[in-house]
Amino acid sequence: MSESGKRKAKRKYEEEHRAFLPEWEELYFFTERNGKPLCLICQNALSHFKASNLERHFTSLHDNVARDFPKGSELRKHKRLVCRSLMYGNYEVALNQLQNVGLCRKNRSTQSAAALLAGSLEAVLVPCERVQALLVDPRHNTRFPHAFAVLVDLVRRRNALHELYLGFTPVLLRNGPSFALYLCLKDSTAEQLPKIVQQNAFLAGAFSGGVASFLTGIVFYPINTIKMNMQAQIEGEHLGFLTTTRLVASRGIGHLYAGLGAHCMGSVLSWAIFQGLYQLLKNR
Ligand SMILES: [Zn+2]
Repeated sequence: MSESGKRKAKRKYEEEHRAFLPEWEELYFFTERNGKPLCLICQNALSHFKASNLERHFTSLHDNVARDFPKGSELRKHKRLVCRSLMYGNYEVALNQLQNVGLCRKNRSTQSAAALLAGSLEAVLVPCERVQALLVDPRHNTRFPHAFAVLVDLVRRRNALHELYLGFTPVLLRNGPSFALYLCLKDSTAEQLPKIVQQNAFLAGAFSGGVASFLTGIVFYPINTIKMNMQAQIEGEHLGFLTTTRLVASRGIGHLYAGLGAHCMGSVLSWAIFQGLYQLLKNR
């Protein structure tokens, strides 16, 4: 190639691999993440900021979106917002980070690692669970009429941070692993469903989400019972995780699983609805 030909090719390459253009989100449903264009629909990243590659990806893999959501329409704007909010859940963010650092493609072990990470990050919300545990315990009904009263009481204590984060260990043991197990069970269930159910996105999502939530609930319920017992303490020296576990376990298996029915009903229903709607919106 001549010198000017080389220069031309270099310039062409640089022009094509320039920064992400904001209009690509409206045109091809792509956003920028960690210096790469990322598809809002399937969450796959492409290697270069090259409009023709983005367009090819969009028109060949998501032709239904291109067809059903016309360019410039309100419908398309709404669809983009839905894709974005689905994508920016903690789990998706964690999964993407793991994929970006080369910890592989979207497979089961990456998903589990992402779920562990996302679940563990959510342990920062322990104070909310602490307040809830004190509110629902009938022994504290007269002392704490509402959530604010609990919060004020806890914050005013000498070890405020310790008080707010009481139950952190069981929450950490529960959140990450239960989310990872939930995702594994959900995907395995979805794969086993008959073809006719798989074709209906809502039904397939709702069924696999419901089953996974039910089974995860049974496995992790005892940890939840221990956590509730820990967090319901307010007077005197608080018992730690191991002591509470021994105490609760000594009362028998029935005590460990007390309230499982109600918990499962609520959790199974909400996960079934969430998962059904999630699949429905994702596949539209
Ligand atoms: Zn895509």
